[in-house]
Amino acid sequence: MIIMKIFGIFGDPIEHSLSPAMQNAALRALGEDGCYHAFRVLQKDLETALCGAAAMGFSGLNLTIPLKEKAMELDFLRPDPLAQAIGAVNTVAFGPQGVDGYNTDGWGALLALQDAGVEVRGKNVLIIGAGGAARAIAYTLAQEGAGISIANRNEKKANELAGLVGAKGFSLLELDRLVPQADTVINCTSVGMRAGDPRLLEGRLLSSRQAVFDIVYNRETELLQDARGAGAVALDGVMMLVYQGAKALEIWTGKNAPADVMERAVREALAARRAGRG
Ligand code: NAP
Repeated sequence: MIIMKIFGIFGDPIEHSLSPAMQNAALRALGEDGCYHAFRVLQKDLETALCGAAAMGFSGLNLTIPLKEKAMELDFLRPDPLAQAIGAVNTVAFGPQGVDGYNTDGWGALLALQDAGVEVRGKNVLIIGAGGAARAIAYTLAQEGAGISIANRNEKKANELAGLVGAKGFSLLELDRLVPQADTVINCTSVGMRAGDPRLLEGRLLSSRQAVFDIVYNRETELLQDARGAGAVALDGVMMLVYQGAKALEIWTGKNAPADVMERAVREALAARRAGRG
């Protein structure tokens, strides 16, 4: 009997996930007899779906919107200390001892910044947003010694996250003052995912001594265009996606993930989508 390892991603919506293209390319490159599939799972069905996956012998799963925080409520899932601190799980591993939860988003963001030569230790980092991705990144960069400010549309959420990581919270109304003071600006909101989204901030606030990291990866956002125009380092969300996925694959297989193969698969899938083929 051939037993193929089954991996996947649960979320809703899930149709546009690039993880199957990225992870299947990596599994092939590693010579793993496995496949990775996207499953639409509603928030109310997460517990049933995870129990089903465990019963069917799945090897590993990723969780995305709106399931990362919901997973923390499940008694049988054991979050590791990092996922516990962040309050969200994006990677699940099924083993003989039970079901373990991890969060690799912050790790992915840190590696993407390091790849681009952006130092955060002792630097002033402005995080815009206070959702799941912002939580993971704020927590990880605070651990790395960054001085963090958090600005969010909902100021209460900015203050809550700021309290968690020893930072200061602000409303978006203060961006005019905060952006010029920052060494690195990170957009962790969903603004920019759609062409025509209003700008979060004016391009004139950016300068060539800064780095701008927009974790949106499906298109070149107006924020990144403004950053390039100002001569700043401009970094999109593709490498964060690759590195968070690479870390998940390493947790599941114990093997070094082929980040170059994964990046190529993501960029090809994005190009196909832009050309109307994906
Ligand atoms: P989330 O938990 O739903 O948080 C969304 C954030 O966006 C909140 O801070 C929200 O502010 C803010 N927001 C939404 N619409 C806004 C608007 N019109 N104006 C100002 N702020 C707005 O989502 P998430 O999981 O953190 O994901 C956020 C983004 O990161 C998405 O684009 C996602 O695709 C991307 N992401 C990328 C990676 C990667 O690997 N590159 C990984 C994870 C996520 P309020 O709190 O005020 O509602």
